[in-house]
Amino acid sequence: MSKVLIVGAGGVGGVVTHKCAQVPEVFSEIVLASRTLEKCEKIKSQLPRPIETARVDADNVPEMVALIRKVKPDLVLNVALPYQDLAIMDACLETGVNYLDTANYEPPDEARFCYKWQWDYQDRFRDRGIMALLGCGFDPGVTNIFIAHAVKNRFDEIHYVDIMDCNAGEHGHPFATNFNPEINIREVTARGKYYESGQWIETDPLSVHQSFDFPEIGPREMYLMYHEEMESLVKHIPSIRKIRFWMTFGQEYLTHLRVLQNVGMTRIDPVKFQGCEIVPLQFLKALLPEPSSLGENYKGKTNIGCMIEGIKDGKPAKYYVYNVCDHAEAYREVKAQAISYTTGVPAMIGAMMMLTGRWKGTGVFNVEQFDPDPFMEKLTQHGLPWTEKFLV
Ligand code: NDP
Repeated sequence: MSKVLIVGAGGVGGVVTHKCAQVPEVFSEIVLASRTLEKCEKIKSQLPRPIETARVDADNVPEMVALIRKVKPDLVLNVALPYQDLAIMDACLETGVNYLDTANYEPPDEARFCYKWQWDYQDRFRDRGIMALLGCGFDPGVTNIFIAHAVKNRFDEIHYVDIMDCNAGEHGHPFATNFNPEINIREVTARGKYYESGQWIETDPLSVHQSFDFPEIGPREMYLMYHEEMESLVKHIPSIRKIRFWMTFGQEYLTHLRVLQNVGMTRIDPVKFQGCEIVPLQFLKALLPEPSSLGENYKGKTNIGCMIEGIKDGKPAKYYVYNVCDHAEAYREVKAQAISYTTGVPAMIGAMMMLTGRWKGTGVFNVEQFDPDPFMEKLTQHGLPWTEKFLV
């Protein structure tokens, strides 16, 4: 029996709230708070059981502190935007409440995400006797847990990892992003980066690509990108010699993105327009469909997984573990597309791990630092079944 305060009523926030509502024996009370109260009310109206809602500007620490003091939750589950992470962590420190998120902090004026800002809270969270669980979505999140599962249960030692994220869905719009457009475009237009032999190697944006035949989808071109889970995985699993992250994009998406970049619409620095300052990427976000609105007509599947090589029983081995999620099925269940679904389900399970004491500690943690077994079991039970096979 516990009370959770969910912050952020977007695509992921909707899924988390639906999924928490399905497990009343753990989440006996749910409060959903966000900047726009109507979005909380809309999600509330879709649920089979009552929840509370609130309006909050999570950038404002005193406002967050006041809300936490009023609600008295056992856990704050942050599915707003990465910009809010530190303010919400500050509010949790002040009130002594545990914290969970799905994306690492990123300063609004600089497209650079990394764990340093949040890892720097380690001593303060430990001294306060509370826990922060970082990056508990799908990637980061389940991908880290797949790797922890391989390390614990399938290999003597792992050496090479390719994380592969494929969305083969069709949403019917010429151009839209599956999660927050600003965060998505900042991530995709950044320089690529991978880790090999103790070093980070940079590549030009989307310049390295190859085809992969995704189970239940077929061959798709996937592009090397930098992604945050690689930073924590090389820290916590030192046997990793090389790790890369790949994401698929359709030609239509890439063509739109190139044009938007060429005309300056993806810039994050303010420009003067008719006497006002506007940030082009924020303006573009206002024109694009909201990720939470894409679900209704979305068709097709996602496949996200990890290809892992290492040593098993003293011999070289190659292993593939993945989840396939269907956009239309996700929509039927929780009124959301599969990208929000695959993020919201693990966030709910992570919250469950913390609230039931399966994962506990004081300080700041990434998911691969805990036992993957109970989490892997819950993934299958709560809508994200996984498949594994040895290829060598
Ligand atoms: P959305 O843009 O759909 O939703 C974000 C929500 O946060 C909106 O409701 C927004 O409010 C609210 N919000 C923004 N700023 C504030 C604020 N200052 N105070 C209170 N609420 C605020 O994004 P998504 O749901 O797609 O993504 C949510 C998070 O999940 C992001 O951090 C994203 O990076 C992460 N993510 C993680 C993935 C993973 O696998 N690990 C994959 C996909 C997403 P408003 O409606 O008023 O704008």
